[in-house]
Amino acid sequence: MRIRLLAAVVAASVVRTAFAAEWVVEAPYADRAELTRAAKYFQHLKVDRERGVFRVQANDLGIARLEAEGFGVDVDMAATAHLRSALARMQAARKPGPALAGADGGGGPPYDTIGGFACYRTVEGTYATMDDLAADHPGIVEIHGIGPSWRKEQDPAEGYDMRALRITNLATAAQDPDRPAMVVFGSIHAREYPPAEIATRFAEWLVHNYGSDPEATWLVDHNDFRLVLQANPDGRKLAEGNDSEPATWWRKNVDDIDGQCNFGDDSDGIDLNRNFPFHWNITHGIGSSGDTCDETFRGPLAQSEPETDNLVSYVAGTCNAAGECSGGVFADRRSGAMAPPSLPDDGGAAPDDTSGVFFDLHNAASLVLWSWGDTDAAAPNRDGLRRLGRRLAAYNQYHPQQADELYPTDGTTDDTFYGLLGVPSYTFETDDTPGFFFQECDGPDGFESLTVQKNIDALRYAARTLHAPYRLPGGPDVRDITVSDVAEGEGGWFVSVQASVDDTRYNQSNGSEPVFAISGAQAWIDGQPWQAAPGATALSASDGAFDETSEQVEGTIDLTGIAPGRHLLYVQGANARGGGTGTVGTPNAVFIEVPEIDDTIFENGFDLSPFL
Ligand SMILES: [Zn+2]
Repeated sequence: MRIRLLAAVVAASVVRTAFAAEWVVEAPYADRAELTRAAKYFQHLKVDRERGVFRVQANDLGIARLEAEGFGVDVDMAATAHLRSALARMQAARKPGPALAGADGGGGPPYDTIGGFACYRTVEGTYATMDDLAADHPGIVEIHGIGPSWRKEQDPAEGYDMRALRITNLATAAQDPDRPAMVVFGSIHAREYPPAEIATRFAEWLVHNYGSDPEATWLVDHNDFRLVLQANPDGRKLAEGNDSEPATWWRKNVDDIDGQCNFGDDSDGIDLNRNFPFHWNITHGIGSSGDTCDETFRGPLAQSEPETDNLVSYVAGTCNAAGECSGGVFADRRSGAMAPPSLPDDGGAAPDDTSGVFFDLHNAASLVLWSWGDTDAAAPNRDGLRRLGRRLAAYNQYHPQQADELYPTDGTTDDTFYGLLGVPSYTFETDDTPGFFFQECDGPDGFESLTVQKNIDALRYAARTLHAPYRLPGGPDVRDITVSDVAEGEGGWFVSVQASVDDTRYNQSNGSEPVFAISGAQAWIDGQPWQAAPGATALSASDGAFDETSEQVEGTIDLTGIAPGRHLLYVQGANARGGGTGTVGTPNAVFIEVPEIDDTIFENGFDLSPFL
């Protein structure tokens, strides 16, 4: 009854206050075609396959649209009440929230946080974090301005300069120009609070642990991280609820010219994640909407929005109609036309030595998604995309799937960067919790205990693959490396090393990835396994035989010729995939300290130097 009344209100196209309220609603669906019809208007449908229902947060206009499509819509009053209490709390706490300490617990400066949500930095808090990281760690951090937001383009006194945080060893970057890159976008959908914070915490993990944690150290020394922590700052500012006209449900950018909604300015704007140029609007209204009022309005043209243009230019550079790009962070390793006449496109697979990984972080549907999103055809690199996706999903425990598995989307970030460049590209939808986009900070469903660490762990795994993300996940991962104290032995100094080499870590909840027995492991000092480096030392299986999918390995490394001081000791394992010498996997590293060697001690058994 209530729904029918609302539909009548919508039909009469009355005032914006009619659209202010948001509801959590649920509707049964019969098949993929029905899901697709609903997804045209919404994103982040939460699909419960077992019950055959989807849930979505919708305003009254959205409910009316679902009804018009023939869905039987039920309001979930409990979930709606939970959401509204969260929003009320936010409104009540519209001032900046309590201070947030540095994410490593090191008590960094306090940063501005969203009212009522002390775990999520505001745009200003995020920008202040970037400023501090760059000021305090000039050897490994710099900030790139990538262009003005829509509002700033309209009025230079307002809006934001968009930023990427670059983290890499800057002193050695020039002599290593093809360093593998990782690009991460946070909160391109404005109201999704967790993604920007996850990206920020990952940045802090890299920077604060550089030089003290061996994994962070080798990752920063040999890779190039480009993190757009706030990918939609204008929209995010509205969604933070601190604005004079708070709009906590804001998803799109704030373009109220090309994105003007005649049903009320609560629904203005363009969905940036439908405005990306590769295959823009290729499903002709199925994977995005042409209606300005819809949450998935794709914009008047591909890449029409300054935010999209800034992000594409930074990551891919300049691209022509044939899909050939140059000048961006990633090299172009794939052919494939920008707008082919039909799907899938005519492009080929990226070579398996393609480096780098792209991530776009969203919430809240608990998914790891890979291309294609606009067709259920397999992407040319499907096997490699899926393999890494299932590895990542073993860390964050989200459901791994091709993005199109439930319903199509077009003009998205991940299809654009995979499609144009061939770089493996993923969307994470972080935890589906009662708070929806506004996940609570604390408690068992909270951001701090449930979400942060496992997603940082997933990003760390991805970072260990950056040299060859289509290949290395086919081999085992290395964990828990330990080394003994350096000890004197016959003829020199030695260190013994132990590690776990594990091929089993896949999320096997949606199809299964083959797992292979470990076939060997090697250790190197200084230099990653694929670089010219001192000879490797073969490690042996601690139980005497390489025959299981997870093995403890051990060995003794001769330090002859290694200069005194601290070094990185890398371990890489291999499995039996493909036969022969097998397939090598993701390495990891540990620090060792090589002492000054005093020959007098060696020769005489005790130190004579005080007597000489
Ligand atoms: Zn999103």
